[in-house]
Amino acid sequence: MEILRLGIDGQLSVDPSDVETASLDFGLLTRGQPLAVLHPVSAQDIARVVKAAYGSNQGMTVSARGHGHSINGQAQTTNGVVIQMSGWKGGNKPPRPHVWAEERYVDVWGGELWIDVLKSTLEYGLAPKSWTDYLYLSVGGTLSNAGISGQAFNHGPQISNVYELDVVTGKGEVLTCSEDENTELFHAVLGGLGQFGIITRARISLEPAPNMVRWIRVLYSNFSAFTSDQEHLISLHAEPSNQKFDYVEGFVIVAEGLINNWRSSLFSPQNPVKISTLFPTGGVLYCLEIAKNYHESTAQTIDQEVEFLLKKLNFISTSVFTTDLLYVDFLDRVHMAEMKLRSKGLWEVPHPWLNLFIPSSKIAEFDKGVFKGILGNKTSGPILIYPMNKNKWDHRSSVVTPDEGLFYLVALLRSALDSGEETQSLEYLNNQNRQILRYCDEAGIKVKRYLPHYTTQQEWMDHFGNKWDRFYEMKMEFDPRHILASGQRIFTPTFPSLSNMPS
Ligand code: FAD
Repeated sequence: MEILRLGIDGQLSVDPSDVETASLDFGLLTRGQPLAVLHPVSAQDIARVVKAAYGSNQGMTVSARGHGHSINGQAQTTNGVVIQMSGWKGGNKPPRPHVWAEERYVDVWGGELWIDVLKSTLEYGLAPKSWTDYLYLSVGGTLSNAGISGQAFNHGPQISNVYELDVVTGKGEVLTCSEDENTELFHAVLGGLGQFGIITRARISLEPAPNMVRWIRVLYSNFSAFTSDQEHLISLHAEPSNQKFDYVEGFVIVAEGLINNWRSSLFSPQNPVKISTLFPTGGVLYCLEIAKNYHESTAQTIDQEVEFLLKKLNFISTSVFTTDLLYVDFLDRVHMAEMKLRSKGLWEVPHPWLNLFIPSSKIAEFDKGVFKGILGNKTSGPILIYPMNKNKWDHRSSVVTPDEGLFYLVALLRSALDSGEETQSLEYLNNQNRQILRYCDEAGIKVKRYLPHYTTQQEWMDHFGNKWDRFYEMKMEFDPRHILASGQRIFTPTFPSLSNMPS
């Protein structure tokens, strides 16, 4: 009732379907129980609700929800309000992206989906530099984590490509922050898991957009040849653009049947090379995925540039899969796979995903113990693996990465199915995730989790390591009552009696 009196321009909803949506996320592993859902149209709408929660003695929390693509309830809340940042209802709308073509940046609403950022900037022949593999994620959601894809080796994660933010803090203040203004808040919010404020506007760096992409996949049966080539390719980050790829990723193929999973659409049935002839008996294949951007006007040189780069690599020579496609279609490739999975009822299923950053010195050991060991020859989803350069990550942000100059992302993106097949069940996959983490612990592989999820504060302290004190200090400054993003389960909300209330 208190919130209803606040005079909000957006919409506050207790509609059961809104509440149900906000109770769930992509993981389908946990459920929240919000009291209401706010569809804001401005930073002021959000500030009013956060201020009310900050001053409330009843114990109200506030969680921003982007597109709800978290796995473990990170955007959920119970006994609080979910601020639904993406998608809007009713007549009023949040501001549309504003492109500053000359300055080469765009101002976007925190709930804007990356696909819509792309569409808006392409109207000016520009595009952001650093991406995620999937574009139906919100700007605020990925900036609260890092935002990574095959461009990160070159441009850093998305959080390295932001100039300025507007943020509603846990006290309900609306602050602009950047390198030069409210600097501490700026760095804390980037990769800050929603703990210090709600991002309502982000100013994102742009570059001239290519219009075509040459997308190449090559296979390896030898892990060390595969990782040496990946590391060689990312070491070229400082070279001129015609002497490096624009995108470097890779994935692991532990079972031949899975060659057609949702991340490997390039291996289509009409492809002439039969993967089965390449598969080592009982072994594992590794697929290097690289891409080069170009413009139709420079199409004459792309063949030579690619040939020069491929010549230095040691893949299985008969395993080159190449396709040319529009830049937009390349960036939006996972959405095409999503549509296929949706049509088969395989999208809205539980996703016990595990994302790990692994120091490069230990990646061979990880391969032996996990890809060639724990996983067996069955897996129910893509397994991505690609290296990144730590010097492209700003150490002042809140995100934590391993203590080495190079580290890998390994993403086990598996879906649990009720198919009767034990290896696809949620329980089996959860157990396997625990086994992988235990193996790393026992083998001294100092992994850091990406999109982390823990249930005790001690585990969070271990996760943040020497960044914990700072993280805690920033929390006390910007969200002293711990009302924001409680679904991350880092801090417990505190609600003192009225007489002890902060001024
Ligand atoms: P939500 O799940 O809604 O929120 C995530 C967290 O951020 C919550 O704690 C929430 O409270 C907080 N938050 C949301 N909005 C704001 C805001 N405006 N201000 C402050 N805090 C906020 N990640 C990558 O890096 N690279 C990938 O390639 C990639 N691919 C993916 C593909 C799929 C199919 C899926 C489901 C996820 C993928 N992700 C990837 C993970 C994704 O980046 C995270 O799950 C991200 O949190 C999702 O964004 P969202 O907008 O759905 O956020």
